[in-house]
Amino acid sequence: MDTIVALCKRRGFIFQSSEIYGGINGFFDYGPLGVELKKNIRDCWWNDMVRRRDDIVGLESSIIMHPKVWEASGHVAGFTDPLVDCKASKNRYRADQLFFAPVVVDGQTVGYVSALESERTAAELQEKAETFKRKKAIQGKLDAVQPRDMTEAKPEEIALIPSPATGEPGSLTAPRSFNMMFQTNVGAMTDASSVAYLRPETAQGMFVDFKNVVDTGRVKLPFGIAQIGKSFRNEITPRNFIFRSREFEQMEMEYFIHEDADWDKCHKEWIEWCRQWLISVGLPESHLSLYAHPKEKLAFYSKGTVDIMFKYPFGVQELWGIAARGNYDLGQHAQASGKPQDIFDETTKKKFTPHVIEPAVGVDRILLAVLCAGYAEEDVTDEKGNVEKRTVLRLSPRIAPVKVAVLPLLKNKEQLTARAKELYKKLQRRYAVFYDEGGAIGRRYRRQDEIGTPWCVTIDFETIEKDGTFTLRERDSMQQKRISEAELFALLEEKVY
Ligand code: ATP
Repeated sequence: MDTIVALCKRRGFIFQSSEIYGGINGFFDYGPLGVELKKNIRDCWWNDMVRRRDDIVGLESSIIMHPKVWEASGHVAGFTDPLVDCKASKNRYRADQLFFAPVVVDGQTVGYVSALESERTAAELQEKAETFKRKKAIQGKLDAVQPRDMTEAKPEEIALIPSPATGEPGSLTAPRSFNMMFQTNVGAMTDASSVAYLRPETAQGMFVDFKNVVDTGRVKLPFGIAQIGKSFRNEITPRNFIFRSREFEQMEMEYFIHEDADWDKCHKEWIEWCRQWLISVGLPESHLSLYAHPKEKLAFYSKGTVDIMFKYPFGVQELWGIAARGNYDLGQHAQASGKPQDIFDETTKKKFTPHVIEPAVGVDRILLAVLCAGYAEEDVTDEKGNVEKRTVLRLSPRIAPVKVAVLPLLKNKEQLTARAKELYKKLQRRYAVFYDEGGAIGRRYRRQDEIGTPWCVTIDFETIEKDGTFTLRERDSMQQKRISEAELFALLEEKVY
């Protein structure tokens, strides 16, 4: 992860927000290459999800909505994470990410150890238990640790569990609910009547505007409403770079189906659609897996939730959640607003509230996934037989921030630079391209490899003196071949869609 974070900063993908003031935890800025990459991810999703389908329409709802929306949706009462404070260090932890285990020697509990959630939580707790036993000079056989998280701690255990910050017991509080919605006030008054929230998800916009979309007459069940936009969550422990931040961007779609429709089939189809989409933007299938939420952990209205998980360097984590939510959301808004959210069934002549399948994904999590999956360092041998390291980002041409770099072989040959600039201008009308005339050609290739540019085109003497073709150099194979201008445009047309 450190290498990827460093590359993101060095090449202008992602910066810490407000860095000159020391940064602000859980917020990030996207630099020149980062915005391009992010925009491409959004555009691919929008094109595939909305424009290329006949059954899905788009929406852009406001970020601040009527506070009653969040009461009806259950967010005011229930959008909480369990929070544990350390009174000594003033650190705060998400209780379900803070693990502990009793140290058991010869069947007797002799103390407790704790560790924050990581790939090796259990191993870390075991090591700490061994150190504890050794330091206290306790004789006997140490049992294998049985990790639990703080939500599972018994009241009498809490005072005995050491804080990860101080290593000492006695300072951790019992878990309490912490609402993750950011509050603000609308208008000049700052009293209870002006309280509003920054949306923690985009989904409620689609439910609240459901009737507006239906009444515009463009849609018939089954149909979806899709939205891309910022969401805000006051996460207790933002971490893993942009994986869990406090301001992030979501791409969500609500697919409304008949109350009698086969929701399970539809749910499965959407899971597969989302999986295939991730593969289409370059994520390796081997890094993707499915996690079905156990029935007992589902909300009472939920019929089922499956997450598409991605193998990040810090562990296998949720990338895309696909939830079958019944008709809970529309039902809640109908009840709270007094406005029915029904559809009339022409065959049965009955009204009903549609059910919904909701695929919800974070743009930032996809962006991090493509960077992690695409990053490689490899040894390559140049024409003179020297071995050197190259850093390469294997990004799909669909989302790569720069599609083609145009390179005149020599900087001081007017004929070469003029032809290169002409091609550059022509390509620029349709694609994000980069013109670079500085330095040895090998070095220029490396610079493009590092930012994931799939192709470099070199304008050389053959271009000018012979048939007008260029040298096309491919990022992943590093192979070169001659290509005409028409062939170059045809290649881009096929690969960048
Ligand atoms: P998690 O369990 O990781 O907190 P969640 O189940 O609360 O996520 P959802 O409410 O289902 O997440 O949100 C849908 C998607 O939005 C997630 O799959 C993820 O891609 C993205 N997302 C959620 N929270 C964050 C965050 N804090 N930072 C970045 N992306 C997020």
